[in-house]
Amino acid sequence: MDRRKFCKTTLAASVAASFPVLTACGDKVPVATEANTSIKGISLDGAEIELERAAIKELGDALTGPVMLSGHPDYDGARRIWNGMHDKRPALIARCLSNEDVAHAVTFAKERSLLTAVRGGGHSWPGKSICDDGLMIDLSQMANVEVDTDMKRAFAGGGALLGNLDNATLPHGLVTTAGVVSHTGVGGFTLGGGFGRLNRKYGLTIDNLLAAEMITADGQIRRVSADENPDLFWAIRGGGGNFGVVTQFDYQLHPFDRNVLSGTIVWPISAARDVLEFYAEWSARLSDELYAGPMLATTPDGDRVIIMEVVYNGDPVAGEKELAPMRNIGTPIVDDVAMKNYTVMQTSEDVAFGHGIRSYAKNGMVREWSQALVDALIDADDPRVFIANHVMGGAVKRVGELDTAFPHRNAEIMLVVVSGWMDPQQDADMIAATRAYHKAIEPLLGGYYSNIDFDQSESVGNYGPAYERLSSIKGEYDPDNLFRLNSNIAPA
Ligand SMILES: Cc1cc2nc3c(=O)[nH]c(=O)nc-3n(C[C@H](O)[C@H](O)[C@H](O)COP(=O)(O)OP(=O)(O)OC[C@H]3O[C@@H](n4cnc5c(N)ncnc54)[C@H](O)[C@@H]3O)c2cc1C
Repeated sequence: MDRRKFCKTTLAASVAASFPVLTACGDKVPVATEANTSIKGISLDGAEIELERAAIKELGDALTGPVMLSGHPDYDGARRIWNGMHDKRPALIARCLSNEDVAHAVTFAKERSLLTAVRGGGHSWPGKSICDDGLMIDLSQMANVEVDTDMKRAFAGGGALLGNLDNATLPHGLVTTAGVVSHTGVGGFTLGGGFGRLNRKYGLTIDNLLAAEMITADGQIRRVSADENPDLFWAIRGGGGNFGVVTQFDYQLHPFDRNVLSGTIVWPISAARDVLEFYAEWSARLSDELYAGPMLATTPDGDRVIIMEVVYNGDPVAGEKELAPMRNIGTPIVDDVAMKNYTVMQTSEDVAFGHGIRSYAKNGMVREWSQALVDALIDADDPRVFIANHVMGGAVKRVGELDTAFPHRNAEIMLVVVSGWMDPQQDADMIAATRAYHKAIEPLLGGYYSNIDFDQSESVGNYGPAYERLSSIKGEYDPDNLFRLNSNIAPA
């Protein structure tokens, strides 16, 4: 089976169109302040408010990037986010190009209690980076990534994409943990934790975050690290966009040979029980170098299959040896695990998860593989639903539970229950099918990844013992909850 053809259809058999990617130019577009009267806005508590023309013009004059209203030629492109389910129209879009631009936009919103969305890469499943009638702070043009090869550090703009990060570091023989779809933004991804195919060796992306620059709700530009504003630095490593707008992430890089033993092994669904039962035992002993996780998907021909996605970040001879028992289960339909450029894997799902797809996702943490979980996964199986995962353990597990704000260090794997379609008429059916699958396995899951959940809008409960500290830091830096369009932490 052709892997590319397969990927195209596993999640999105009907993806025929994708939204145009935002143009990556930093040129100043004329400011759209031609509203003749004040325009309608919405406050943080949902009341209608007036945004005066003079104030909008003042904001436009202060920013180096454009402030766009409906009717601006770039307005419709800028308000599109990845999930086609969310078609919202902000009153204003401030396309920021610098820390100062962001500070002006935040101050404008704060002074008016204006509902505010922050857009990094636009991949929020529940559409938290866009809002109706509020302000969208658009970081898409702050996407530059620079690499210091001596210090082994990367400096990524708050609107950079994961592909920008990989593409900047890999030519230098360096890497850090980045996620599995290259058009995801570093912003929301990092602030929520950051899972990727190298996390068993190097930890989550937040475990590689050394410092950041951010603009807090009071409009201050702050540097955060273990030594500067350490409380904020702790909170942004897992606490999402609750604490301000991050305009730069400084990442630790690691020496890396980009030719890695990697690929996929695919079996018919009839082998699912054998594969999952084997995996439940075998995965408890994986080396840090090996990332291997099972997925359940549907092929272009409508066949249900089980897939093992593999990346071995180490000596390929040792990798072949460690993988051998897995490859010997039954008769795979495809086994293309071989030495490949890491970017092949890092972009292999980009088309299947293309922009504009309608998508719904839920997830949960598996603390321990059990026979009950294997049974539930098989019994609940539904060809409309894609079961993906993020393998954990290794370096992820060795970080203390409260060392960062990310609360799920002890999980073995995160299971993602996701569906994708193009026709709005299918919304209800696809959401119901995904929820039903998730409901069947939910009793065997503990906690969830707030970055991949369509329904959760507040975080209490999911953060366990970290919540009280998060809430207190939120109360100090964002007492009015300006940054509320996220997995929200209530200010103490
Ligand atoms: C196709 C796809 C693949 C994915 N793969 C992975 C994966 O491999 N690993 C993984 O861990 N997760 C993955 N995710 C989940 C991903 O981490 C979240 O969707 C994440 O929020 C995306 O970040 P973004 O900047 O693109 O999103 P956005 O929609 O721009 O933002 C998401 C949230 O973060 C906030 N935010 C974004 N940027 C900033 C910033 N610079 N400062 C402050 N707040 C900000 C927004 O306000 C919003 O609340 C994937 C998601 C999708 C849709």
